[in-house]
Formats: sequence, C-alpha cells, structure tokens
Amino acid sequence: MVDRVLVTLDGEVRDADQPLLYADDIGVLRGDGIFETALVRGGTVCALDFHLARLRRSAQALDLPEPDLARWRSAIETAAKEWGSEEEGVMRLVLTRGREGALGSPKAGLRSGELSEAVPVPTTFVMVTGLADRVAAARTEGVAVVTLTRGISIDLAQAAPWQLLGAKTLSYATNMAALRFAARMGADDVIFTSTEHRVLEGPRSTVVIARDKQLITPPAKNGVLPGITQRALYAEAERRGYDCRYEPLFTADLFDCDSIWMLSSVTLAARVNSLDGVRMSATESVSEIIEMVDRGIERAGTIADW
Ligand SMILES: *Cc1c(COP(=O)(O)O)cnc(C)c1O
Repeated sequence: MVDRVLVTLDGEVRDADQPLLYADDIGVLRGDGIFETALVRGGTVCALDFHLARLRRSAQALDLPEPDLARWRSAIETAAKEWGSEEEGVMRLVLTRGREGALGSPKAGLRSGELSEAVPVPTTFVMVTGLADRVAAARTEGVAVVTLTRGISIDLAQAAPWQLLGAKTLSYATNMAALRFAARMGADDVIFTSTEHRVLEGPRSTVVIARDKQLITPPAKNGVLPGITQRALYAEAERRGYDCRYEPLFTADLFDCDSIWMLSSVTLAARVNSLDGVRMSATESVSEIIEMVDRGIERAGTIADW
C-alpha cells in the first residue's frame, strides 16, 4: 500500500519524495494555475468526467492552453491503479502556467493572435494522497461553521470576470486564511457571505440547505464555484421528488431550514452541526441526504444519467 502517488502528464510514475517543480514555476511564483480535487474510491475516480470538464472550463477562464484530456485520462488511470482499491484517496489534478523562463510553442486550442505567439508550457501532474483526518469526523459528526464576510458583492462575478470566481484556481491563500481564522474561533469550516449578507460558499465546498422536500443552493452567477458534489446530490434528489433550486440565500435563511450542508468531492456531505455558535440538531432527513450524495456520486460515473 503506497501512501502517495505522483504521475506527470507524460504518464511517468514519479517518486513523490523527489522534487518536481522548478523555482520559476508561475504556479509557485503567483499561484497562477488551476486544480481539481477528486475522490478515489474502490480504485476509480468519482465523477471524473465532471472534474475534467471543469478543468477545461477553468483553463479557459485563465487563458491557459486547452488541457489534452486524453493525456489527463491516461495519467489519471495510471495514478488510480498505483493507488489501488483498498483505501479512499484524494486525487489532485494540477495545471500551472508553467515556467517563467521557458517558452514553448503555441498550444493547440489557442487561436493565433489571442495570446503572444510563444506561451509557457503548462506544468501538469496528478497526485494521490490519503484522506485528511478531519474528513472522517466531518462525514459522521458534521462540522462547526462560522459565517465570515468575503467582502464582495454577489454582482462581482459578472462585473469583474478577471476575479475568476467561477474557476478553481490555485490562488487559495485567502480561503486557507479564512479556515485558520475559523479554527481560532473553535470552528471547523466557514460559510462566506457577500456584502449584501447573501450566502456564498465554503472555502472548499458548496453550501446547500434542506427545507422539507426542497434543496436550495446559491446560483453560480452570485460568484460561487459550480460544485460537482452539489450537482450529484441534485440529480439524485430530483429522481426522488425533491424540488432542487438555485436561488439567492440570505444568512437569515440558514437559521430557517432543516439542515445545512457543506458539499465537496472528498468529504462529500458534511452537515453543519453548529452555526455561529448556535447548535443545529440533526433532523430525520439527514441520513437520506448523506445517502443521496453517495448514490449521486456513484451515478456520476455514467454521464447519461445527469
Ligand atoms: C472545490 C470547491 C467546491 C466544491 O466543489 P466539488 O466540485 O463538489 O468538489 C466549492 N467551492 C470552492 C471554493 C471549491 O474550491
């Protein structure tokens, strides 16, 4: 049983204890790049097509060369095989803008004149590691959450596309700082709010509330990342007669619902067990929602079902 797997896009399995990046990698110098985090379960990568589709959209948003999905698939397959099927794993797909000093030829997918003729060759790799300790507890016990302002308006995503709010970029320093801020307040996670007191998302998860047979999540145009786990839940919940909505939520709505969920590819469904210090007790629907997320993620392997 290996504890880490590293595969570069040329399909080569690397020693994860050996250095891989150059000091002038723009991903390191500026956090300029994109990533995906997927769950490896039973030897396969959950909802892989959706992660690859979002990787592609993120690359477009950052004017990065279009990812060669056939090569990604093959490197991912190699990495999943190396990891094995015994334990769950976290698979990261990483694509940076490449080395500052090294210019390659224009990549396929770029129209000439769109960017300078010579563009850096992206740095690309797939890494699999074990699940963080917090994941098991978040799945079973839920998480204590604080609301923190993100200091932005829900209009920002459309007014300022260069903010890249719909892309999964490597610039996560503020997201990590918010989690440390929460930890100092004794909380496990964060729900970001806008300047209008609207609910946005977690630093690494999508917020969904459940109210009777209704599920609500903020729409992507409010400046949140479209979540794959949330989509998997909606696909499954709709089959079971739930009314699944994308609607703006006020922070007050968080206190007027049956349960609040932080959804993400690795942790899957973490119920908010306390919000800003107010305990939220589990309702009957809790186990059904957890089950729907599991089921939805399994089904997400077959795109035709979505
Ligand atoms: C990754 C991420 C999510 C969750 O997305 P999944 O596709 O479910 O993993 C939500 N919000 C942010 C900011 C994220 O980085």
